[in-house]
Amino acid sequence: MSVTRRRLLGTGVLTAAGAAASAAGAARPAAATTAAQADVAIVGAGLAGLVAARRLVARGVSVIVLEARDRVGGRVYGLPLGNGSTSEGGAEFIGPTQDRIAALAAELGVRTFPTYNTGKNVYWRNGRRTLYATDGFLGAVPPDIGVVELKLAMTRLNAMARDFPVGEPWRHAQARELDADSFEGWAHRNSFTPSARFLLGALIHATMSIPSREVSMLYMLNYIASAGNESTPGTVERLIDTKGGAQETRFVDGSQEIPIRLAAALGDRVRLNAPVRRIAVDGAGVQVTADGITVTARRAVVAVPPALAGRIDHSPALPARRMQLTQRYPMGSVTKVVAVYPTPFWREDGLTGQVLSDSGPVDVTFDNSPPSGTPGILMGFISGSYARGLDAAPPERVRAEALESFVRYFGARAAAPTHFAAQRWDTEVWSGGGPVGYAPPGVLTDFGSALREPCGPIHWAGTETAGHWTGYMDGAVRSGERVAEEVGRAL
Ligand SMILES: Cc1cc2nc3c(=O)[nH]c(=O)nc-3n(C[C@H](O)[C@H](O)[C@H](O)COP(=O)(O)OP(=O)(O)OC[C@H]3O[C@@H](n4cnc5c(N)ncnc54)[C@H](O)[C@@H]3O)c2cc1C
Repeated sequence: MSVTRRRLLGTGVLTAAGAAASAAGAARPAAATTAAQADVAIVGAGLAGLVAARRLVARGVSVIVLEARDRVGGRVYGLPLGNGSTSEGGAEFIGPTQDRIAALAAELGVRTFPTYNTGKNVYWRNGRRTLYATDGFLGAVPPDIGVVELKLAMTRLNAMARDFPVGEPWRHAQARELDADSFEGWAHRNSFTPSARFLLGALIHATMSIPSREVSMLYMLNYIASAGNESTPGTVERLIDTKGGAQETRFVDGSQEIPIRLAAALGDRVRLNAPVRRIAVDGAGVQVTADGITVTARRAVVAVPPALAGRIDHSPALPARRMQLTQRYPMGSVTKVVAVYPTPFWREDGLTGQVLSDSGPVDVTFDNSPPSGTPGILMGFISGSYARGLDAAPPERVRAEALESFVRYFGARAAAPTHFAAQRWDTEVWSGGGPVGYAPPGVLTDFGSALREPCGPIHWAGTETAGHWTGYMDGAVRSGERVAEEVGRAL
């Protein structure tokens, strides 16, 4: 998505320590520490933290938001293309029933447009390229018993996700059995052809960027159930489809416009380059210590993924269940690449730009061109084991292998983009991977309720704590709204 890059410094957002400190990640700078006071200290200026701040300020509550990076948005990021424009390097799409992110964007005047979805999709399997219609996941792949099996499995999954305790999977009547299983285990017992097994694995790869053996069946059912709203049950189709699903719509000026506008309105309440290292609780409230600033507050909101929350020191120590939850909630593995071309040449070939493939490193793609269609931008996900295999690779190798994938799907013209960029989330200290923190087997039943349960004056937010649309921007917004309500009541 081409937009003019906007720097936050200059919108009133303050920087607490030097940019070098942020780049150094875990290193503590020897900067002088300033002291500040607020009703609520918020850790993390992703969507969840910023929405919580906005809601609390609207209630007349004073806040300070401490952000580790030198920018806001967290997993929502406009990846610079080197010519003053950006394309989404993190979260990008929204879809039906994602009401809270849609309402927020509308309130902030951030416009949307439909994801390019005209033509056919490419399915690459066993070295063979076939095209299929875009109406629904593998709607018209040539006769393949695996697709029939997949559809039966999806029907079963949708039925199992109906009447599910969304956001509280540990309350499910069969929670223990379901949580003892991985999604791969379930998929192998409920499908027999290699292609159905591949497609069911691709469902997890495409949504969570992990191999399906790593995720709990209970977690996955909650994920499906959460892909809806209070009146519409979640379905597999709504997770994976473009039209009618979570990939239906994009933002005209890029998704990072949302956190940028939220932060601009909060002004100097947002402090950049301020990684929080310690939270101390005493009778009077909390003391939140970041590089360059210590905030004394009545309450704290930690709006970062559980795995990152686990890196913050606490005094006194947190309850064991909360500490152990953060040891058991890993991030997925994902790199997002974008290649820029003078025109979206694949459209001339009748293609949407969307691919599903059994060969990496790029195994899912989308057309990321701006609404005007110029320039043409192809986006690709490098997920799970493919991402891990390239984590230590130099940028030239990531570029070469990604372009090789694009050529496989779209032909020789994909070999020579005018620009190429990659956002490698696994190497980002302040995300630790992406797109989402998830529960492996056995975690949710014993530790799940510690995701949201406040620990004294410390409250938890972030998309991982959401009921509906956990893992998505909509879930992050919902969690920010929920925690603001919770803290507002407590104050
Ligand atoms: C590649 C990729 C693609 C995605 N695609 C989509 C999509 O198309 N649609 C969609 O809806 N969602 C998508 N997502 C998921 C979406 O990005 C997240 O669900 C959402 O942005 C999470 O917001 P959050 O505020 O909960 O967390 P984050 O965005 O992770 O925000 C947490 C913030 O806390 C900061 N932080 C961490 N530790 C500390 C600390 N100790 N002190 C201070 N600050 C700290 C971080 O720097 C970050 O800014 C995608 C994610 C990725 C990575």
